[in-house]
Amino acid sequence: MSQTKDFRAYISNWIDENCPKSMMTPMPASEQVWASSSISFPNSDSEKWFNAMTQTGYSTPEWPKEYGGAGLDFEEAQILRQELKKRGCRNPQINFGITMLGPVLLEFGTEDQKKEFLPKIARGEIWWCQGFSEPGAGSDLAGVSTTATSNDNETYIINGSKIWTSEADKADWMYCLVKTDKTKKHDGISFVLIDMKQDEITTNRIQLISGVSPFCQVFFDDAKALKSHCIGGENKGWPVAKSLLMHERTMMSDMESEGAVDISPSDLLKNCSEFSDKKLLRNEITKHELRNELIDLTMQRVKEESQFGFSEAALTLKYLSTEELQLRWELNIKSLGMGGLLVPGKGSEMINDVVKSFFYSKAYTIAGGSSEVQLNIISKNILGLPS
Ligand SMILES: Cc1cc2nc3c(=O)[nH]c(=O)nc-3n(C[C@H](O)[C@H](O)[C@H](O)COP(=O)(O)OP(=O)(O)OC[C@H]3O[C@@H](n4cnc5c(N)ncnc54)[C@H](O)[C@@H]3O)c2cc1C
Repeated sequence: MSQTKDFRAYISNWIDENCPKSMMTPMPASEQVWASSSISFPNSDSEKWFNAMTQTGYSTPEWPKEYGGAGLDFEEAQILRQELKKRGCRNPQINFGITMLGPVLLEFGTEDQKKEFLPKIARGEIWWCQGFSEPGAGSDLAGVSTTATSNDNETYIINGSKIWTSEADKADWMYCLVKTDKTKKHDGISFVLIDMKQDEITTNRIQLISGVSPFCQVFFDDAKALKSHCIGGENKGWPVAKSLLMHERTMMSDMESEGAVDISPSDLLKNCSEFSDKKLLRNEITKHELRNELIDLTMQRVKEESQFGFSEAALTLKYLSTEELQLRWELNIKSLGMGGLLVPGKGSEMINDVVKSFFYSKAYTIAGGSSEVQLNIISKNILGLPS
């Protein structure tokens, strides 16, 4: 107990000394930092905060030190996260390598694969994109048809197309589901890491209503990937993909901690003079904040339970939190009064962030597996209903 107290005191001190005050304020979209081979920072404070977190391994607190982590145990990592959250510290980097691929490499990767990729991921040197969905495979992901064929022991030749690939045009690498045996469904899938910097890969942007477009369609025309970058073994990619989706859904359950813009509807309402009677909206906001509190508590429960095995409650979190997040942005728009009618690009930076985030929030209940599919998972795995 006293050790825990000591560690909390140490971490509190460390944060106070290393986190610039400006990094303890809500993050506007324009100040997000994305891990990348050509990483850039909006200001010196965000660079200082990024360096402090990566040099100590605190961006990947539970990863072993040899792979760029801080080697903290579960309890210490929880304390670190709690203290960062308590002060409203910004996530120093958005990095799918940390939230999604890294845990999968730790579980399924060979020693060589871990040594090659994990330290670079922890240091924020790679921008990853996710090549799962295809024009003919979304919810039914096992229907992917992008092929990886081979004439030798070293290289795969990749052909096909991926769609809705977020930020593919900026990415350094893609983790990708490919068919290595066309005669089989799940058992013909491999999980391969592909270097995006090659002429045989084309990425085209897809426009969105929010005015922000992370989406691309990616085309592979005899692109190459090393067989040594196949994770979990050839034709054994399905369990790897399922594990990655679980980490993606966990990440999506806590978008603000991951660096997404968050604005509180009650703050907006306080500053909006247009309503003569704010009571109705205040009631809706209070109910929403209470549900958010319950989701936070469930998240804590899942973290505690997952120390001892799989927590079934985890399966509910993506559905509950993304539906609630969508409602939060609806309440934010309502709380802006007339300002909520502005189109993206026409108001102050804050109003712009609210309007863009409102439109973008519609995607949260689709990305990473739609709400309908999450309900199927809950009904089958928790309620025991037939498929
Ligand atoms: C913001 C965002 C970012 C994304 N980023 C990426 C990315 O980086 N990489 C990537 O690979 N993909 C990405 N996606 C794609 C995403 O994973 C798919 O959109 C999602 O899995 C749904 O697939 P789909 O769009 O093909 O829809 P479909 O699978 O065609 O579904 C259409 C509709 O049918 C419903 N439906 C389908 N099957 C069932 C069922 N069995 N029971 C009940 N209802 C069903 C769905 O709920 C949905 O409403 C992203 C999507 C969004 C919105």
